[in-house]
Parts: sequence; C-alpha cells; structure tokens
Amino acid sequence: MTNVADRRLLLVHAHPDDETVGTGATMALYAAAGARVTLVTCTLGEEGEIHLPELARLAATEADQLGGYRLTELRAACAAMGVTDHRFLGGAGRYRDSGMMGLPTNAHPRAFWQADLDEAAGHLVEIMREVRPQVLVTYDPNGFYGHPDHIQAHRVAMRAAELAGAEGFGPDKIYWTAMPRSVLEAGMAAFRESADNPFAGLDQAEELPFGTPDEQIAARIDGTDHHAAKEAAMRAHASQIPDNSWLYSIAGNFGNEFMGVEYYTLAAGEKGPGSGPYGWEDDLFAGLAAGTAAVPGPAVPGGTAPAEAGSR
Ligand SMILES: [Zn+2]
Repeated sequence: MTNVADRRLLLVHAHPDDETVGTGATMALYAAAGARVTLVTCTLGEEGEIHLPELARLAATEADQLGGYRLTELRAACAAMGVTDHRFLGGAGRYRDSGMMGLPTNAHPRAFWQADLDEAAGHLVEIMREVRPQVLVTYDPNGFYGHPDHIQAHRVAMRAAELAGAEGFGPDKIYWTAMPRSVLEAGMAAFRESADNPFAGLDQAEELPFGTPDEQIAARIDGTDHHAAKEAAMRAHASQIPDNSWLYSIAGNFGNEFMGVEYYTLAAGEKGPGSGPYGWEDDLFAGLAAGTAAVPGPAVPGGTAPAEAGSR
C-alpha cells in the first residue's frame, strides 16, 4: 500500500502483555509509520501469576484486584509502543481471564472461555465496522500455545472476520502469530549451556507447543528499530514479566533481532510479494492496493476493493 495513513491494523489479544510479547515490535513499527493500530484485549488478565511481591495480595484468591492493575500496565505499554487506540472486548471487565486449561477458573460465569461466541464476536464486529481494518492479527486455532483465552480469542476474531466479511467490511488479510522452527532451534542451541535455559529438558523444537515450519511462515516483520519500544512495553508489564525474566536474557544473548523481529502465518487473503527462500513478506499490507476497505460495500473476489482515485 502506498498511502500509509490508509493502513489500518487490528490486533486481537487475550490478556494484557500478550500484545507486547507477541506483536510489540510490529505494533510499534506500524504506529510509528503512521498506520492506524487498534488493539483489542479480551480479558483483564485477572488470573496471571504475580511477580512483584508488593502486589501479591492483588491475586484472584485474595483482593482480586490484579485485572484493574494490569489495565494500567497495558495503558503504559501502549504508550511505550505509540499505540493510542486500545479497547477491551465488550468493555473493560466484560470477560474474565479463564486461567490455565483445566483449572476451575475456566468455569467462572464471566470467564472468556465460557463466552457465547457470536455475542463476543459481535463486540468485535462493531469495532471492525468503525475501524475497517485491512489486516487482522490474532492467534492460530491452538491459541499459539494452548491457553483457553488465546484459543477463544482466535475463535472470536475469526468469527468476527466472517461476520464482518458478510457485511462487506471484513479484513483483506488475516495473520496468525507464529515462531519459525529455525528460530526456535537457533534459540535452543544458543541456550543449551546457559544456566537460565528456558528450553531446559527439551531435546527438539518439535516438543514445544508452538513452532511453525519455515515454509509455512508468510511474513517476517522487522521492527528491529523499535526493539527499545517493545522492551519498554515489556517493562510496563512488570507484574507479569520480572526484571530477571529469560525474555530479557534472551534479548541480551540475541541482540535486537530477538526483540524486534516477529513472524506470522497468513490465514486468509492473498500473500503479497516477498523475498528469501520462502518468499516471506516484509509488510503485513503487502499486495494490498491503497484505500482497500475504505468504502463500505460488497467484498470483491480476490479480497481487495479497487483503489480509490487520489488515495495514493
Ligand atoms: Zn495470554
């Protein structure tokens, strides 16, 4: 797309901090480039583990105030990434963090895992109706690593895209966050001798709950120049990411590329031009004409509407 200001990127994440860890460099990159970046977070993350001792009593089993606190962390993280449009699905507090798969918290009446799919998707359709994103980013059907709220975020985002598409304003491209197997293997090799090896006990990348064969990756987004914004956003989520987290030590070992480069598979839409052995795109908007999805109307076969005169 030639006109950056016409670019609208919508990201759907499960908990505060997921946006930063998974897609923070991408968000900072597009926000800095002048694209409209809209983040939708589905829960407040009430069931998160608390890494700051002074906040321990905010826990769900005690004061149950972690969600409200994480809202403030998310706000600071968005500011660090330059993202100004942030919403909670259905409004802050509508859906509750379901906790890890199989825990009793999955059955809480407000747990996101219990959400009615069409009702939850309806909240997102309203946001799509307003924002008209050309590109939607969310997780794969396994929620990247199996957390119920991530799986549900995937289902809700995909259902919303389907409903919006039926009304003529669905996204042109849908991406799922991914980690190329070659990157995981390089990480495992580099950490093998390390005392804080996050891959301890694993022999092969295939044993991890995530990891995508390189040939299935569609896009490699190089936000290396924005690694500092991503790291600042991570620091804003201090209740979840302690200062001694392996995320920071990995960053130290691998340099800015670990923090700044993020990968995606393409779940819907047409892949744009790319490079390298697998033709990875370097832009989530690659192949889209300027002004796509700007005008309400029926979807055009092939996924893109004709470019508007004067929009480039
Ligand atoms: Zn999460």
